[in-house]
Amino acid sequence: CGIVGYIGMREAAPILLAGLQRLEYRGYDSAGIALQNGGLPFMKQKGSVGALQAAYEESPAKMAGATLGIGHTRWATHGDPSDRNAHPHMNTDEDIALIHNGIVENYSLLRKELISEGYVFRSDTDSEVLVHLVDRIWKTDPSLGLESVVRAALRHVEGAYGLCVISPRDPDKIIVARKGSPLVIGIGEGEYFIASDAAPIVEHTNKVVYLSDGEMAVVTREGYQVKTIENIETEKVVTELDF
Ligand code: GLU
Repeated sequence: CGIVGYIGMREAAPILLAGLQRLEYRGYDSAGIALQNGGLPFMKQKGSVGALQAAYEESPAKMAGATLGIGHTRWATHGDPSDRNAHPHMNTDEDIALIHNGIVENYSLLRKELISEGYVFRSDTDSEVLVHLVDRIWKTDPSLGLESVVRAALRHVEGAYGLCVISPRDPDKIIVARKGSPLVIGIGEGEYFIASDAAPIVEHTNKVVYLSDGEMAVVTREGYQVKTIENIETEKVVTELDF
């Protein structure tokens, strides 16, 4: 339902949690965040962003030092609202984290295929197939970068998505992709924001880039590069929001 992302120099967790609060108006049943600080700590649970925030404040240490992360508010389509079905979803090794808005239409087929290959699912969502697909492609060629493996995984996916993926195996970047679910990149100074609408971004910057359907972006601390999912570079216009 709602997506946020941050990459920069500041502590990411409080920025992500504040961003998720800004998306609460869209409705949700659970929330979660994943951050990168050498490891890939994550927290997710059923209920409000306020409750997630309280859980974070009880043990902020495990998220400390992370200046990159992603967050999600879920509106369940496949699988009950519950802790285990909340996003982010992790691969089995817990070194890839993924959040997803939308519906993977062919998830049931993909899930069967992945289970037959030995993948163990930890949720009832359609979204979880995405992270195992990324994992499977990466295992076949560990020399690939995160962008390439996400791109390759999306070739198998039918349906709608707005998604963000991070991994300490290819650190210091957020991979985002959009098909049928909106995504916006906010441009700060040495920091970038990602969100499913501009609401979480406007308190930080008024410069935004709207991804078009069928586009992917690699967002780093140095900038962002947008290509189509088919890997063709596209020119993006920076919009200055006025408020
Ligand atoms: N289909 C996914 C799920 O049920 C994502 C729902 C959403 O867009 O929040 O977990």
